[in-house]
Amino acid sequence: MSLSASQRLWLAIVSGLLCSAVLVSILAPPSFALTAVGDLVQCLLLSSLLVALAINVCACSRAVRIFWLLLLIGVGFWLLAQTLWTYFEVILRREVPNPFVGDLAIVLHLVPIVAALAMRPDREEQRSRLTSLDFLLLFSWWLYLYLFFVIPWQYVHPDDHTYGRNFDVLYIAGHIVVLLASAHTWYSSSGFWRTIYRGILLASLVYAAGSIAASVAIDYGRYYTGSLYDVPLLISAVLFTWVALLGYQSKFLVNFSGEPAPWAHPWVTALTVVATASLPLLAGWAVFFSHAPQRIGKYRLALTLTMIVFVGALRTFKQHTLDRELARATKELHEASVTDLLTGVRNRRFFAATINKDTQQALRFYSIGEGATRNRDLIFYLIDIDHFKAVNDRFGHQQGDLLLVQVAARISTAIRYSDVLIRWGGEEFLVVSRFTDRADAEILARRVLHAIGTEEFQLTAGKIRRTCSIGWATFPWWPERAEAIPYADVIRFADRALYEAKNRGRNMAVGIIPEYSMAHYAKQSPPGNLSPGDLPGRTVVSEGPPAK
Ligand code: GH3
Ligand code: MG
Ligand code: MG
Repeated sequence: MSLSASQRLWLAIVSGLLCSAVLVSILAPPSFALTAVGDLVQCLLLSSLLVALAINVCACSRAVRIFWLLLLIGVGFWLLAQTLWTYFEVILRREVPNPFVGDLAIVLHLVPIVAALAMRPDREEQRSRLTSLDFLLLFSWWLYLYLFFVIPWQYVHPDDHTYGRNFDVLYIAGHIVVLLASAHTWYSSSGFWRTIYRGILLASLVYAAGSIAASVAIDYGRYYTGSLYDVPLLISAVLFTWVALLGYQSKFLVNFSGEPAPWAHPWVTALTVVATASLPLLAGWAVFFSHAPQRIGKYRLALTLTMIVFVGALRTFKQHTLDRELARATKELHEASVTDLLTGVRNRRFFAATINKDTQQALRFYSIGEGATRNRDLIFYLIDIDHFKAVNDRFGHQQGDLLLVQVAARISTAIRYSDVLIRWGGEEFLVVSRFTDRADAEILARRVLHAIGTEEFQLTAGKIRRTCSIGWATFPWWPERAEAIPYADVIRFADRALYEAKNRGRNMAVGIIPEYSMAHYAKQSPPGNLSPGDLPGRTVVSEGPPAK
C-alpha cells in the first residue's frame, strides 16, 4: 500500500506545516501573533483533512462511503469548534470564554467517529440493516449526557469548576470509547483495512492524549494557543490525513455485490441497551442521591423524561421498520424457496405446497351441488426436451442452461395465467393446468409443441432448433368417481404418455384418457398397478410443427 506522488506531496506539505508550528511554539513566547499562527495552522490542517476525507466520500460507494462520510462529519464538528475558537481569538481578539459555545461540537464530534468504526466496511457479512437508528439513539444519548452532566453547571446553576470537571470527564469517556472502538476494529481486521484502523488508532491515541492534556491545562489556566499543548492535536490531524490519503484506495476494494447495509455490530446494540437502561437510573440518581441544587434536580428529571419519550418513539419506529423488513425478507425468502434458480419458474417445493389445494379444489368441483359442469379438471402435462443431451455435448453445459431458460420462457407464453409451470427436474417441466376441461386438454399441448418447436432458439454459440415431447393426463381420472385415483398416479400416467411420445418419434404430445368405465377398468387391470409398457387408457396424439 503506497501513496501516489500527489498524495505524498500533500502529506509533505501538511507535515511541513506541522514542523513549522512545532518550531514556532518552542521558540516564540505567548503573543497575539503566536495565537494567530497556532489557530491558523490548526484550521488549515483540519481543512486539509476534511478535503482528503471528502475526496474519499466522493470516490467510494456504499458502506465504504458511509464510513468516510461519518469520519468527515466527526472532523467537521472538530473544525467547527476550532473555527469558533479562532473567531474569538483572532477576529474578536478576545480570550475564549470558559464555558465555550464550541464545547458542544467538541463533545459531539467523537460520536460519528465511533459510528464510522462500528460501520466496519471491511466486514460486509456482519452488518445488519437499519441500525442507523441506533446511531441516532447513541448520538442523542451522548448529547443527553452532556445536557445532564455539563450544561446545568453552565446555565441552570452556573459553576465553572463543576462545569469544567464534568466536561473533562465526559470528554475523556468519549475518547476512551473511541480508543476502545479503534483498538477493537484494528485487532479484529486484516489486510488493507488493518492498516487503516491502525492509523486511526494511532491518531486517536495522540488526539486523546493531546486533547485531554489541553483540556486540563485550560482548566488550570496554563493553556495558550500555539503552546506545546497544541502539538499532539496537530500531529493527530496529520496522522488522520495520512489515513484519509491511504484510504483513497478503498474505492478499489468495494464489494458491489452485497446489499448496501449500513452497520452495526453487536457492541453497538449493547451500547444502545446501556443507553436506554441508563435513563431511569440517572433520573433516580438525580432525584434521590445527587447533592446538586434542587433546580438542577428538576431540570435533570424533566430532561430525562423528555429523553425517555424520545428514545421510546425511536425504538417504536425502529421496531415498526424492522417488522416491515422482516415481513419483506420472509416474503422474498419464501418466493426464492419456491422458485427455480436457473429458469425462474416454480420448483417442486412449490408443487408440493400447492398440489393438495389444487386437487381438493378439483374434487370439490366434481362433488354434488357445485354447479358448473365445465372447467373443473386439473391437467398434468409433462414436457421433456427432445435430444437435449446433444445440445450439452455439442455446445457445452452453459449453452444447455441458456436453452433451458428460453424453453421455460416459451412454455410460459403458451400457458394461461392460472396454469403453473414447474421445473420438474433436469430438462423436464410440469405444467399444472387448473380450472380447465379434459375436452380442451389437447389445445394447450399443441400450443406448447408449437411454442417450442416452430422457431429456432438463439444461443450465444448459434441458432438451434429443438422440439419437445409431452405426456398428459387429467385429474380426476374418472369423473364419475373422482377420488378413486390419487393425483400421484395421474402424474405417473402422464409420464407413461411422455414415454409413449418419445417412442413414437418425439415432437408430439400424447394424452391418456380412461378408456373404460371405472367399474370395468377396476376389474380388468387396476390402474395403480400397471406393468411396464402398459397404458392405463386410450391415447390422444397431437403432432408438433413439421421440421423446416
Ligand atoms: P430425449 O429426452 O429426447 O430422449 O433425449 P435427451 O438427450 O433429452 O435425454 P434426457 O432427457 O435423458 O437428457 C437429459 C439430459 O439433460 C442429461 C443432462 O446432462 C441434461 N441436464 C439435466 N439438467 C440439466 C441442467 O440443468 N442444465 C443442463 N445444461 N443440462 C441438464
Ligand atoms: Mg430430453
Ligand atoms: Mg429428460
